[in-house]
Amino acid sequence: RPAPPLPSRPRVFTVSNQKGGVGKTTTTVNIAAALARFGAKVLVIDLDPQGNASTALGIDHHGDIPSIYDVLVEGKPLSSVIQKSTEEGELYCAPSNLDLAGAEIQMFSIDRREFLLRDALERFFNEPGNDFHYVFIDCPPSLGLLTINAFSSAREVLIPIQCEYYALEGLSQLLSTIEMINQGLNPYLQVSTILLTMFDSRTRLAHEVAADVRQHFPQQVLNAVIPRAVRVSEAPSYSQTVVSYDTMSVGSISYIEAAHEIALRGAPGAASTTTQEATH
Ligand code: ADP
Ligand code: MG
Repeated sequence: RPAPPLPSRPRVFTVSNQKGGVGKTTTTVNIAAALARFGAKVLVIDLDPQGNASTALGIDHHGDIPSIYDVLVEGKPLSSVIQKSTEEGELYCAPSNLDLAGAEIQMFSIDRREFLLRDALERFFNEPGNDFHYVFIDCPPSLGLLTINAFSSAREVLIPIQCEYYALEGLSQLLSTIEMINQGLNPYLQVSTILLTMFDSRTRLAHEVAADVRQHFPQQVLNAVIPRAVRVSEAPSYSQTVVSYDTMSVGSISYIEAAHEIALRGAPGAASTTTQEATH
């Protein structure tokens, strides 16, 4: 199968869901790793103080290692904190560290506090050599300044959904948050991608919730579904994504499939964006 095409301008995703433990981090690192295997240059920004994305990508993120905290609070360039992942291909990560837990309070008194990440990314893209195809921002589960910074930096939201009873309820909360962001901080932000994760095909509820989500969001939900699989949850303890830890496992194959779809679909409204720019 040929590798999917690379986007002509960087696609910036924020991976979010206000619920914890739904597969945000797992989705971030595995989609990123799969796209890197297709030949894309990919950056993962770890905005969660827990640093699980950094760990899963084999990135050192102990106390003194420069992190995204230095970018947001100290104004350091993004290029000064990124590290190359041990995964295959051109995969990089801006790690988080525990300092990030206190960052929101410090960011509060900084000028343009909602745009610190966006400004840093813009400077980063303008530096020579930073020809990235994809950026994925892994968010903490709360809706604080860190997540708001992610929302103002991205054009696309990738929502991982666990097919459980309250899935749709959480989703409508997230959608009204995005609507608010659209009216103020970032008119371009849109939910481009929804991925069903930790799918347990043996339960009827999972199938019902999946059908419900597909009915509400026919354009956004990927055909690929990520099954609940032990190999997926084992991989981080080897500082690896499941895509490199056990490439032929069902979890890995389904993440590669999902990444392939994301790449094939392209950025939403890419054609009309070009038209808009041409008229400016
Ligand atoms: P979040 O970032 O939303 O808090 P995580 O990606 O950290 O969620 O996932 C929560 C837990 O579920 C982790 O322990 C992770 O290893 C596990 N997990 C995620 N996806 C799967 C899956 N498809 N199968 C089995 N376990 C999974
Ligand atoms: Mg997480």
